[in-house]
Amino acid sequence: MPIAYVGLGANLPGPAGPPEAALAAALKSLAKLGRLVARSSLYSTAPVGLTEQPRFLNAVAALETELAPRALLEALLGIERGLGRDRSTGQENGPRTLDLDILLYGDLVLREDGLTIPHPRLAERAFVLAPLREIAPQVRDPRTGATVGELYERVSREGASKDVPDAVVHVESEGWRAGAGNAGGGDAGAGSDRDHG
Ligand code: AMP
Repeated sequence: MPIAYVGLGANLPGPAGPPEAALAAALKSLAKLGRLVARSSLYSTAPVGLTEQPRFLNAVAALETELAPRALLEALLGIERGLGRDRSTGQENGPRTLDLDILLYGDLVLREDGLTIPHPRLAERAFVLAPLREIAPQVRDPRTGATVGELYERVSREGASKDVPDAVVHVESEGWRAGAGNAGGGDAGAGSDRDHG
C-alpha cells in the first residue's frame, strides 16, 4: 500500500480552536483514511507570499492508505471544509484555518486537472521540507530522484527564506508530542520523535 505524505498547515482559529487544535483534529480525521505511520513535530513558519498575516503552524503526516490519489484529495478537502476552511475568499497564500496538501504519494508522478503529485511547490518550501525531512529524509522526489534531505539542504542554502528571520522554527508541544489529545489514534504517536533531539 502506498504511503502518502500529507502537509498540514493553519494560521487562523477555526471551529476546532487555535491552529494547533485544528492540526490535531485534522490528524485525527487523517487516521480514519488509512494508517498513520508517522508524523512530524510542529513548526512555526513565516508566511510566504502574503506576508501580512499571522505565522503558520505546519506539520507533515505519513499515511498508508488504500485511497487512490483523487479520492484522497477529495477526503482532504472534506476535512478542510469540516474544520472551517473557506475558499470563497479566493486569496492565494492567504490566511486559513486548515490547509492539507498531498506532498508525495509513493513514487507516483501525476499531473491532472486540479491534482499534481508530487506537490508542485514541494521543492521550494522550507516550511514543508523541514517537517517532511524529519520523518522521511531518505524518501525521493520521483521527478528528480533527489531525497527530501537533499531538497531541504538546497532550500536552506539558496532559499528565499534565508532573509526572513525565524522562517521555520521547531515548536515544542507537549500536547502534540503526547499524541495531540489522541488526535492521531493508535499509531500516530509512533511518529518522528525518534528523529528528534
Ligand atoms: P490550496 O489548498 O489553496 O493550496 O489549493 C488546493 C487546491 O490545489 C485543491 O483544490 C487542488 O485541486 C489543488 N491541488 C493540486 N495538486 C494538489 C496536491 N498535490 N495536494 C493538494 N491540492 C492540490
